[in-house]
Amino acid sequence: MSSQRGNLFILSAPSGAGKSSLITALLKRHADMKVSVSHTTRQPRPGEENAVHYHFVSVDEFKRLIDKNDFFEWAQVFENYYGTSKQAIEQQLAAGIDVFLDIDWQGARQVRDLTPDVQTIFIVPPSKSELESRLNNRGQDSAEVIAARMAKAQAEMSHYDEYDYMIINDDFDTALSQLETIVLSQRLKQTNQALVHHTLLANLLQD
Ligand code: 5GP
Repeated sequence: MSSQRGNLFILSAPSGAGKSSLITALLKRHADMKVSVSHTTRQPRPGEENAVHYHFVSVDEFKRLIDKNDFFEWAQVFENYYGTSKQAIEQQLAAGIDVFLDIDWQGARQVRDLTPDVQTIFIVPPSKSELESRLNNRGQDSAEVIAARMAKAQAEMSHYDEYDYMIINDDFDTALSQLETIVLSQRLKQTNQALVHHTLLANLLQD
């Protein structure tokens, strides 16, 4: 087990920016990075599995967890509740694993207050027209549905300036390597390195 505590990262983006694909690709490269599995009251989409993509719970169960103080952060995002349980992150961080929170700007604000050393990353699409076409599922949706998704995306994007880093997801491989650079450079911070390499440093500094 690593003697270094894992680093905590927040990744926020409007729907259609490609955030999930970027996280999935990054985690494939690094066994010591994990994404936290949130709780939500929304219905599973086709292909989504309980306890893998989300813990799908009722509104009553979600409120019970709030009352029990089980959440690290939670928010109502449009029509549904979403939250990160304390349990979802604490064990992993203690085991030296870097943890990603895929959460919205409201959750990011709460986590920043609780954990000032969290690194926050915002991902945006390369253009409005590209976002529009990514939000138009296989060309099957009405103009109203797409307009509503665009409005939600713009509401999320208006918070870009609250984040430490920004990635424009135009070319996927470039965006992935930018994300990897941010995460790996955090591990190289002197304070993190000093914890991992304390024996080496003690030895180097000995007369
Ligand atoms: P979706 O329903 O498309 O999976 O997610 C909708 C939004 O909820 C996304 O912006 C996502 O980042 C956000 N979200 C997912 N899980 C959490 C969470 O645990 N906390 C907060 N605050 N937002 C979340």
